[in-house]
Amino acid sequence: MEFAAFADRARAIEETDADLAVVAAVADLFAAADDDLETLARFVQGRAFPAWDDRKLDVGPSLCHEALARAAGPNVTAGDVEDRLADVGEIGAVAASLDLDGQQGLSAFGAGGGDDLTVADVHEAFVAIATATGSGSAGAKEDHLFGLFNRASPAEARFVARLVLGEMRIGVGDGTVRDAIAAAFLADDDRVETGAETEGDDEGAQLTLSELGESADGAGEVEEDVEAVDEDAEAVDEDAAEVFERPSADAVAAVERALQVSNDAGRVATVARDAGRDGLSDVHLEVGRPVGAMLAQAGTITDAVEAWDAVAVETKYDGARVQVHHDPDGDTRLFSRNMEDVTDALPELVEFVADRVDIPVVLDGEALAVDDDGDPLPFQRVLERFRRKHDVARARESVAMELRAFDCLHHDGEDLLDAPFTERQARLEAVLSEGVSESFVTTDADEIGEFEATVLDAGHEGIMLKDPESTYSAGKRGKEWLKRKPDVETLDVVVTGAEWGEGRRANVFGTFEVGVRVPESTNASADASEYATVGKVATGITDAELDALTERLREHVATEDGQTVRFEPAVVFEVGYEEIQASPTYDSGYALRFPRYVAVREDKAPADADSLERVDRLAEN
Ligand code: AMP
Repeated sequence: MEFAAFADRARAIEETDADLAVVAAVADLFAAADDDLETLARFVQGRAFPAWDDRKLDVGPSLCHEALARAAGPNVTAGDVEDRLADVGEIGAVAASLDLDGQQGLSAFGAGGGDDLTVADVHEAFVAIATATGSGSAGAKEDHLFGLFNRASPAEARFVARLVLGEMRIGVGDGTVRDAIAAAFLADDDRVETGAETEGDDEGAQLTLSELGESADGAGEVEEDVEAVDEDAEAVDEDAAEVFERPSADAVAAVERALQVSNDAGRVATVARDAGRDGLSDVHLEVGRPVGAMLAQAGTITDAVEAWDAVAVETKYDGARVQVHHDPDGDTRLFSRNMEDVTDALPELVEFVADRVDIPVVLDGEALAVDDDGDPLPFQRVLERFRRKHDVARARESVAMELRAFDCLHHDGEDLLDAPFTERQARLEAVLSEGVSESFVTTDADEIGEFEATVLDAGHEGIMLKDPESTYSAGKRGKEWLKRKPDVETLDVVVTGAEWGEGRRANVFGTFEVGVRVPESTNASADASEYATVGKVATGITDAELDALTERLREHVATEDGQTVRFEPAVVFEVGYEEIQASPTYDSGYALRFPRYVAVREDKAPADADSLERVDRLAEN
């Protein structure tokens, strides 16, 4: 597919409000994708590669701004790009506007753009960008990106820029991709009609997917004029939504299962198209490819006892999440909660599992720092080890790490995601007799309270409460797992801005503005791009930490205005506070009283930060 055609469709999807119309438009894109289906199923969500893939584009805003400025000709600098970004607030719009402004002598994007850039070309360039490593890699990445911008029309540049910065944001979440795959490829036999019957449905009102496609195509040839795209884009599918037939629950469930086990929309879309439901049911969890971690909500003992017939109770370890993929005939690999490969940082966990397990397994658990007596050390010590790339042997001597496995997702050729918790627990205990999280099942709230006191005395963070009947919902934050941390809770917040310091500290940031997620849904992997400010953090940070934070955050600067800097959401702080007050000062409606920096949550991405909903609940308490 021409990249221009994808860009037009993406723009049209972005302009579409109704959920069903978005599903229809994405389904139509998939149906028309041919050889590019795998790539496009990722692109619609702003992914260059599958979530499990180790390849990352690793392009920061400044590199992108440089590449854009170069492509825009000699009269445009990266500073101009940044100024414009400060005005319009979104890199895609900046990229699309650059040659419309007439400030460059050269035609930035070729003669009217459109060249012959294909989706495959963009994918190929992304592979080159991701695989450029070592010294000089920044220059190589910039050259590849410049090459892309240089060939792109304004409409194409909009989406090249957004893709490369992981900011697609056209309103396509996991659920949309799932439904669109089902609608595009599994719909023939058992679709359930919606809309059409409520509309009284005149003859000819039913549109096929390909007819929907024609209307989507009408969203623009290769548009020069952004306004024109906007107008046409709006026309796309609001009508079509009325006659679009929602895929059946069965079809959606088949796609959902395959997505959970493979973590790869590109592959699932291709299998659904080429091999239908039978093909999808053959998609299995692969040892060596991480799946999304099941997540927990905050909750109380009463919540758990009231919601379920019985409660599985465990220690909540204050470590870092690890997913262990062990193949006795191959490797043992460890993945973080964000599916990053952290194997090399934690050799003792690898040895621990490899020495004890002689069947292929996937285990979920926590990597815990312990002292010489095996007692837990604070989370800060975990961070000295987790994701460490250099001096691992030396770090290992000063902090020992241990595994506490708490789930078994795959056992000797059998996927267990759909098995109840108790069954998975039995498998886990059959696999490992040590290094397993302590747990028991009870209906007695007092017994849980006593266990909690023991666990806290032993220096752990709290307890986890799990529904014994529940299956493993990969990548989801549901109500089946509740975390209970009885101490004054900290918040994990996204750093959204900062003020430069003063005097002696003028070269480092002094105050950090922090925000919580305003999630589109409770699904952790959905695009959670909005953050509501809850406070400004300036205390609890040592000078050395300020230096390190400044170094680190510098590369995420999105805009700068005098003393004030805004960041791309990238870094998550854990902050303590005395209380949460209702306050008109910030857009969240709350202000943290006496906020205090605790640590950087290295193991969390912005999408894992605490939500406004949690702040609502904490404030209410
Ligand atoms: P939080 O990081 O505060 O959102 O709490 C959820 C995290 O607790 C999970 O992602 C795990 O990394 C961690 N955790 C510690 N012990 C357990 C356990 N026994 N079961 C599940 N998760 C646990």
